[in-house]
Amino acid sequence: MSDLMRQEGFDYAFDPSACSTCQGKCCTGESGYIYVTKEEIEKISDLLHLDVREFVAEYLFKKGYKYSIKERIHNESHECVFYDRETNGCTIYEARPLQCKTFPFWDYFKTRVDELKLECPGIIND
Ligand code: SF4
Ligand code: SF4
Repeated sequence: MSDLMRQEGFDYAFDPSACSTCQGKCCTGESGYIYVTKEEIEKISDLLHLDVREFVAEYLFKKGYKYSIKERIHNESHECVFYDRETNGCTIYEARPLQCKTFPFWDYFKTRVDELKLECPGIIND
């Protein structure tokens, strides 16, 4: 087991070594929204050497007044278009959105640890 990660205000810890065998459960599975801010859109476009407009048209969709990353369906699983099954990794890792960087320490899960444990095998109750 690698060093556990903890965050103030959360009653659980996270073992990042679980990511190597979990096959990206947080990037695949049920359909969801992966929101990106204007700054994140610019960063990812830069990383992919794409014009912002081109990037938005190809990889994002509008949800209300926000943008979310598109998904593709594989064996009934909805996966983020940037998830790479071959390497079990994120192809925009350096520029991934804050929503991805802060998982699994989301306020939503503070009172829903059982739900989180179903999604993420790296969660350990303190
Ligand atoms: S679900 Fe948890 S263990 Fe799996 S890749 Fe995501 S953060 Fe890592
Ligand atoms: S952007 Fe990367 S980390 Fe975020 S859901 Fe997509 S593949 Fe996963």
